[in-house]
Amino acid sequence: MTRESRYDILFEPVKIGPVTAKNRFYQVPHCNGLGYRDPSAVARMRGIKGEGGWAVICTEQVEIHHTSEITPFIELRLWDDRDMPALTKMAEAIHEHDALAGIELAYNGMNGANFYTREVPLGPSHLPIATFTYDPLQARAMDHQDIRNLRRWHKNAAIRAKKCGFDIIYVYAAHGFSILQHFLSRQFNHRTDEYGGSLENRMRLLREITEDTKEAVGDTSAVAIRIAMDELIGTEGIHKAEVMEVIERMAEVPDLWDLTLSDWSNDSRTSRFTEEAAEEPFVIGVKKLTSKPIVGVGRFTSPDLMVRQIKSGILDLIGAARPSIADPFIPKKIEEGRIEDIRECIGCNICVSGDLTMSPSRCTQNPAMGEEWRKGWHPEYIRPKDSDSRILIVGAGPAGLEAARALGVRGYEVALAEATRELGGRVARESKLPGLSAWGRVRDYRAYQLQKMTNVEIFYDSALDAAQILEFGYDHVAIATGASWRRDGIAHAHLKPMPIAEGVEVLTPDDLMAGKRPMAREVTVFDDDHYYMGSVLAELLAKDNYKVTFVTASVEVSNWSRNTMEQHKIQARLIELGVEIITNQAVAAVAPGEITLRCSYTGRETSRAGGALVLVTARLPHDQLYLDLTARQSDWADAGLKSVKGIGDAWAPGTIAIAVYAGRRFAEELDTPDIGDALPFRREIAELLQG
Ligand code: ADP
Ligand code: SF4
Repeated sequence: MTRESRYDILFEPVKIGPVTAKNRFYQVPHCNGLGYRDPSAVARMRGIKGEGGWAVICTEQVEIHHTSEITPFIELRLWDDRDMPALTKMAEAIHEHDALAGIELAYNGMNGANFYTREVPLGPSHLPIATFTYDPLQARAMDHQDIRNLRRWHKNAAIRAKKCGFDIIYVYAAHGFSILQHFLSRQFNHRTDEYGGSLENRMRLLREITEDTKEAVGDTSAVAIRIAMDELIGTEGIHKAEVMEVIERMAEVPDLWDLTLSDWSNDSRTSRFTEEAAEEPFVIGVKKLTSKPIVGVGRFTSPDLMVRQIKSGILDLIGAARPSIADPFIPKKIEEGRIEDIRECIGCNICVSGDLTMSPSRCTQNPAMGEEWRKGWHPEYIRPKDSDSRILIVGAGPAGLEAARALGVRGYEVALAEATRELGGRVARESKLPGLSAWGRVRDYRAYQLQKMTNVEIFYDSALDAAQILEFGYDHVAIATGASWRRDGIAHAHLKPMPIAEGVEVLTPDDLMAGKRPMAREVTVFDDDHYYMGSVLAELLAKDNYKVTFVTASVEVSNWSRNTMEQHKIQARLIELGVEIITNQAVAAVAPGEITLRCSYTGRETSRAGGALVLVTARLPHDQLYLDLTARQSDWADAGLKSVKGIGDAWAPGTIAIAVYAGRRFAEELDTPDIGDALPFRREIAELLQG
């Protein structure tokens, strides 16, 4: 198949200073939790995007000097020559597929606490370090010598980057992560010298460093400016009108403008809070100011929307971070006329949670993310089957769907049995909740792939038991039967059942997702799960005109959602919806008309009137089928059954990403030799120096 002609425009080359992007698909810098700790893994991950057809593939932020580093976060480093081999390896992996390699040089300034190097952080002014964690230290206001030093460090880093083979070298002023943004923003820049005050003064360092970089490497490498169009705090911070002026004044200085929103949580908003192309209002009009190409993001997964961005003169290059993680092969699929095969990002920010927990980023849609090097997984391909075994997958949620899909790709004969008439399991249910419709893409992608496979058969309305499974005579069985929310209150605050008196109206998330609603108009949602579900249900009930009280033993609503950069947005939404929020309190016990709360700090109990109670607590795996089958192990040989595995929520409830991963792992490991106690992945260990 070939691409449809209306997408031809996406495959036009774009000149970026001295280099040329072969098409308009541009993987903007993105973190991934691999960085300097896993250099070969991150190189391979980027290389695969080259294979997938991206014209430009960038690094994550690369710390240019040891006086500004962001421990505990794991990005890349270019502190001195010893960091060069890792970066060279990445540039080479990108070049293998004729893609251009971009490097985002970063000096974090106010955003780097320097916990590793113990250097005093530098910034435009004497101000507290602007990290997520209220770190008890300040940046020192830079003097002129410091500014000269920074210019030299940046120049040296650019020269090293060029030697490593990078084609596009970034001057970074975005996301609140760069000192150049700190100088630009009135928030942080309180200086009275020629680097503070007027816009011309505040942008002086950006201009100087861009010119230095051009002078140092601009003959063969393009120099890009990545700039925050808006900090979304009004005129006290960087805002669009001001940045338009910056761009106008420096229009032709860089070879490319990369436009973003600040902070990072505004740039990488989840689908719960924004649609695709949400940054359009912030970038529209920039193209008129400069002849240089413009790249911008917007969680673009729809080729028609991409075309519109180009045709309407908003962007020249389609920037993507998350869409390129969820599907590193988007360009190739469009080029080959396989639009339906695109595995669309669901906008959940589980990838971000990897970076923020300093672990290799997972992706809900692409379970190969982070495993490309250490396990040899590929987002598109998987080795052919090793035997003629026939496989039964029980349950068509995220785990079962992915297991069936990946085994199908391997060429096995697969039966997928689903108790209901619908594919998707929890994803089918959860995607009907407020703000979560894009999550249905986890099911949609897999359902479409399965439908094309002649070796995978789907059986609906098939709630199987152990006896039936033994009769069928499959060689291997995966139990992917999911989990249910508990009704007894067990989770973090209660490790034993919560005292719930007779006559209390108790509902679980499963009840609400099945369409049941409380009879009482007053509802308390006790969220002891701390991720999204409690807040989504509070939102659902508030929109259904219930009087909702949200109770959490945490200091805030949906505490874990900090890792998906949504916490503050979720809390704001509940406040706007009129939900009463009670923090630092657990529901200790409940009786008709009365809820007892317990203070997280003092243990003191208080009572308040209450209606219905929604318990968002732990879940119980549906592992009975697994237990029944293992109890009958003596019958396996006669039935021809060789193995039974529990996967996904049926094994241990977790995120959707964890379930998808479990499905993929089952498929990858089927018919592989037992490795005993050996590590199931490769890892890189630092070289020991003498002395
Ligand atoms: P996971 O997240 O691990 O994929 P889900 O709860 O999303 O789990 O999906 C489990 C799926 O398994 C649901 O669609 C459910 O209807 C189905 N299921 C549960 N028990 C059985 C069974 N005994 N036979 C067939 N399907 C089952
Ligand atoms: Fe998109 Fe979620 Fe994957 Fe991130 S983890 S790339 S947001 S699907």
